[in-house]
Amino acid sequence: MLMLDKQFFLDSLRDMAQLAEEQRNHWTKLDSEIGDGDHGINLSIGFRAVTKQLDALDIESTDIAGLYKKVGMTLLSKVGGASGPLYGSFFMKAGTNIAGLHEINFRQFCEMIQEGVDAIVFRGKAQIGDKTMLDAFLPGLEVLFQSDLENEPVAAFEAFVARMKQGSDETIPLICKKGRAMRLGERAIGHRDPGSESAWMFMNVYLEQLKKRF
Ligand code: ADP
Ligand code: MG
Repeated sequence: MLMLDKQFFLDSLRDMAQLAEEQRNHWTKLDSEIGDGDHGINLSIGFRAVTKQLDALDIESTDIAGLYKKVGMTLLSKVGGASGPLYGSFFMKAGTNIAGLHEINFRQFCEMIQEGVDAIVFRGKAQIGDKTMLDAFLPGLEVLFQSDLENEPVAAFEAFVARMKQGSDETIPLICKKGRAMRLGERAIGHRDPGSESAWMFMNVYLEQLKKRF
């Protein structure tokens, strides 16, 4: 079984921070079409604070769950808007079942993501088809857990990210049922949901790190 150590999570978090810088304008542009134009700004502010924290962290004494809890709390406290608390709860809750561990197997990693997404559902109360990041996450997870996690982990994760990307495409024709873009009604049709785009791109960071290693 493929094992993931703390370095995998640290490298992924640093790459996510870099992604947030690179995609800042793109995510903000998407949000300016159907929201208030701050999605990229929110995530770049949040992940800059995360980077600061990683620099100051005593890595040796922190387990994976503790690391994620810190990241989650930072996003929750530093980011305004809906996405800060939502991504914040993702990281806060992702480590619930792996407390104390400094290394986990691939299935436990997938379950972490499931726990994190459950927290987004719990907090945001959105459903599939509401034109949110969940339109990427939920179908993606379904594909992930139908895949052969034990024997083909990287292929499984590739299928997960591909389905998330497709889920983001599927938000384009939808009317928004949650968040700021709700009041746009039919004017939201034809525009991609910004959170569904950042969501698949963040998960793609894990994929790139997996491909580097395995
Ligand atoms: P805000 O909407 O407060 O300006 P952002 O622009 O940073 O915050 O994030 C907007 C994104 O958050 C949306 O594109 C959508 O994907 C996601 N979102 C908003 N509300 C919810 C919710 N209730 N559940 C899940 N995701 C949501
Ligand atoms: Mg916004």
